[in-house]
Amino acid sequence: MENCKNEIVCLIKGKDPEQREFHQAVEEVVDTVKPVLDRSPEYRKHAVLERITEPERVIMFRVPWMGDDAQVHVNRGFRVEMNSAIGPYKGGLRFHPSVNLGIIKFLAFEQVFKNSLTTLAMGGGKGGSDFDPKGKSDAEVMRFCQAFMAELHRHIGPNTDVPAGDIGVGAREIGFLFGMYKKLRNEFTGVLTGKSLDWGGSLIRPEATGYGVVYFASEMLASKGDTLKEKTCLVSGSGNVAQFLTEKVLDLGGKVITLSDSSGYIYDEEGVDRGKLAHVQHIKNIRRGRISEYVDEYPNAVYTPVDPTLDYNPLWGHNADCAFPCATQNEINIQDGQNLVSNGVGLVCEGANMPTVPGAVDLFIEHRLLYAPGKAANAGGVAVSGLEMAQNSMRLSWPREEVDERLKHIMKSIHQTCVDAGDMYGVPGNYVAGANIAGFVKVVNAMLDQGLV
Ligand code: NDP
Repeated sequence: MENCKNEIVCLIKGKDPEQREFHQAVEEVVDTVKPVLDRSPEYRKHAVLERITEPERVIMFRVPWMGDDAQVHVNRGFRVEMNSAIGPYKGGLRFHPSVNLGIIKFLAFEQVFKNSLTTLAMGGGKGGSDFDPKGKSDAEVMRFCQAFMAELHRHIGPNTDVPAGDIGVGAREIGFLFGMYKKLRNEFTGVLTGKSLDWGGSLIRPEATGYGVVYFASEMLASKGDTLKEKTCLVSGSGNVAQFLTEKVLDLGGKVITLSDSSGYIYDEEGVDRGKLAHVQHIKNIRRGRISEYVDEYPNAVYTPVDPTLDYNPLWGHNADCAFPCATQNEINIQDGQNLVSNGVGLVCEGANMPTVPGAVDLFIEHRLLYAPGKAANAGGVAVSGLEMAQNSMRLSWPREEVDERLKHIMKSIHQTCVDAGDMYGVPGNYVAGANIAGFVKVVNAMLDQGLV
């Protein structure tokens, strides 16, 4: 088998050769947990790697729905229930045309480690569909969500599997999904997180991923006696994570000079201030428009459309102190990584899941950047989802300050956990290894406690 350094990775590539993102996510974990396996031979004896890389359950289903023009459309739905050793499956739903089983498996696999790091009792899962909400009417999105839930409802539940949002699944979609679940099951229960405040949502959940990434970045900087004040930041994406990340960077005195979507990016040398951010939120969340519209209102900014002939993304070529990729997987390639290093970026903190290709990660580590992988840095979203589940089960609603304080505390503790695990296994300052090792040890110990199931 080409290109596999490890027996498990060979096995996985052989079984599902087309699932490239899943191979990538597994390879990184297998590489970094090797010292743990070397120190504790019982893990190999109990085949923990073989077990943790095989989903407990994969659900794939047909989603037929009708467009406004009375045409029938058929999409494919997925839910990968990866690991329930430490709690019910938990992880978002992604609606995007690129979705396939390999992408959902990589996201579910990463989610297992991320959820373990939060210290909350949540296993890992992920789901979604190749449905594209872009350009669809609200009525079409509603009919799609209802058709999706018509199948998904039999596999999920507040103590079994609790989905949430991800790319293409925001408050609107969660509302339609929840409404259908309630109708089918005749129960009002915390089966989804990211709900609206009036019917079971948690304060700070919309903000949590973006805020959490910034709290994590602040912890990394604090470890070097530094802060985000007056730092210039490159941000990709302009969705949920990018918007609230920008808000928190502003709160802490930093400056965001780029935002993007899948069509292109804006560069605003003066910085995206609060007024401009509110305008971005209007464009993206209300008008469901494109980031290019930013320059209509702020002509000093420059819009650059995606150029498919380039083998790098010019967004990552601007001089800055920090970079926060918040769009999608593998959006920073080796050339982008090289550009970030050459342009003096000292911190890369991932809002998106696996946005950096392995060769660029190696560059960041080699050049001693402060580099945090998404599974640690963006865990604030699922952490507050866990708090939403706790509030739902108690039929309580905690105040904003309390949830924010808990989020800060969790991000601080994830940071410390990564540092401690890196120190303990001889890779100090390596947050990738630290996150993988700490997440892994907790989950596999729970698996061993529970026997061969
Ligand atoms: P949104 O759908 O709100 O926003 C996604 C943003 O990324 C949009 O600007 C979108 O542009 C852009 N984007 C999506 N796909 C691509 C692509 N293939 N190429 C370029 N740009 C793209 O999603 P979120 O903000 O919720 O999610 C962003 C990332 O953060 C994802 O990796 C997600 O898995 C991760 N994440 C999200 C969490 C959450 O709580 N929401 C929690 C943890 C991680 P366009 O509008 O053109 O599609």
